[in-house]
Amino acid sequence: MLKSKEEKSIIEDISKCYACGKCTSICPLSQISDFTPRIIAENFVLELDKEEIVDDVWSCLTCASCSTICPMEVNFPQFIREVRKDFKKRGLGFEEAHFGIFSNISRLQTSNYVGKPRSEIYKGLKIQKKGDILYWTGCTPFFDLVFDETYTDISRNTVRILNYLGIKPVILDNEKCCGHDLLWNGDIDNFKKLAKHNIKEIERAGVKTVVTTCAEGYRTLKLDYPDLVGSINFEVISFSEFLESRLKVKEVNFQYEFPYTVTYQDPCRLGRHMKVYEAPRNLIKSIPGINFIEMPRNRESALCCGVSCWHCNLLTKSIRMDRLKEADETADILITTCPKCKMHFQCLLNEKTDDLTKKYDVEVIDLSTFLARALFLI
Ligand code: SF4
Ligand code: SF4
Ligand code: SF4
Repeated sequence: MLKSKEEKSIIEDISKCYACGKCTSICPLSQISDFTPRIIAENFVLELDKEEIVDDVWSCLTCASCSTICPMEVNFPQFIREVRKDFKKRGLGFEEAHFGIFSNISRLQTSNYVGKPRSEIYKGLKIQKKGDILYWTGCTPFFDLVFDETYTDISRNTVRILNYLGIKPVILDNEKCCGHDLLWNGDIDNFKKLAKHNIKEIERAGVKTVVTTCAEGYRTLKLDYPDLVGSINFEVISFSEFLESRLKVKEVNFQYEFPYTVTYQDPCRLGRHMKVYEAPRNLIKSIPGINFIEMPRNRESALCCGVSCWHCNLLTKSIRMDRLKEADETADILITTCPKCKMHFQCLLNEKTDDLTKKYDVEVIDLSTFLARALFLI
């Protein structure tokens, strides 16, 4: 409910309403529908069920016509604005036109990273603008904007490990989204625009190898760019494969016991799509003291995290629940190599039961962060 001082004064303002109905007589919406500002005001004054007025609160044009004739000088638009703030917090929103893109553009501009050079994410770490090995940041800065957890940590921890190996990766300041979701949601024209931009920038930086920590980015850059846009003259490799190759030549050295019971989620794009199954497992198993247990469904038969390209509903939620239960029954920690798998599982983990206890007793973590911890880099 509305609480702050300002909010209370708004409620006091609406409490002056004595239901004369003059607002309704002038309201442009009331002329063409059964919308009535008086009913909204009454709902608040009499403290009735707010669910009944959700649509009306979002329909109000905040045009202020009613305020010009209200005998009690109720500031109706301001009242509506405060109520919306409260509704938004409670998840009582509405569907904005054009997929909400214009509000989202505003939100994006509040980010510390979005719209700024990608290098801002890596302050204190060693990166460069040109060179052989590029680390693909992907969409983690965008995810940080929406979710409570930080996803840029995945990027920072990966660069931390690369620095530990003596590698100063190239970071593209003007890297753009790889276009994965556009491609799989049918927007091939815009996918190609993003792909062409990224290919040009990667090649301009003189890069020979692109390393990704995103399963979707990996597939998109390695398979879909050459397939749909034209040949690329750089290699694309997943971070787990890259690091495993360094493990084999003993450049990665886990020195300390790390006594955790863990399991691994094969992201669909890295596993079934690209057949990368063993590299992440080999890295995890090489840590002293680790107790690695496979979930019953693994590798080719691994269950999806339950969301693809933001198609999220109760049906897909049941898949996530099924998979998280399987992970919970197998280990204490579920390691993933896709930021989106982590996000979709974390979303479910954040849900509380009626008695506010957690439903699942398993931590979900990305491989880079897990390895950075095992190497005592963080
Ligand atoms: S005009 Fe003012 S006092 Fe009259 S019903 Fe509308 S909000 Fe209430
Ligand atoms: S501010 Fe809302 S309630 Fe008042 S006249 Fe405009 S549309 Fe109607
Ligand atoms: S599970 Fe659905 S709601 Fe949760 S983060 Fe993923 S897409 Fe968003």
